[in-house]
Amino acid sequence: MGGTLKWCKNCKSLQMVKIIPAEKYDNFSSKSRNFWFDNGSGEEENRIHYFQRKARCLHCDHEWCTVEYDYVDMVNLTLSYKDLIKKNVGLKDKIKSYKDVVASMEKTQISLTIDYEHKKGELRELAKAFKVILNHIDRIEELEGSI
Ligand SMILES: [Zn+2]
Repeated sequence: MGGTLKWCKNCKSLQMVKIIPAEKYDNFSSKSRNFWFDNGSGEEENRIHYFQRKARCLHCDHEWCTVEYDYVDMVNLTLSYKDLIKKNVGLKDKIKSYKDVVASMEKTQISLTIDYEHKKGELRELAKAFKVILNHIDRIEELEGSI
């Protein structure tokens, strides 16, 4: 009895698997099992062709999609992926530091608002005191006028 030996990530070992045509599962529209991965650009040269089907581990029944893909394309894809990762090293830290800046700006804004409200309160108190003083002055002038 023949079979295919594949890596089962559930068993973490090579296992005999049953190959299942992808179109028998889910809503695969391509009966030929040939698919294109589109990066969203709509450019034909950026599409990646792959052949897809499923495998079922005969040891643990785990099922997964397998893809057959051009070896050279896979190496290039892996290298460009690593390059992308390398170029973006520190990006996460940069984003975090921007978020920190925004958070601290928000805090400053809050403290400015609090300070403004506080100053407004102080000014109101001063205005009240000023009115009292003005009333006293008016009263004094009244009294002086009556003398
Ligand atoms: Zn397994």
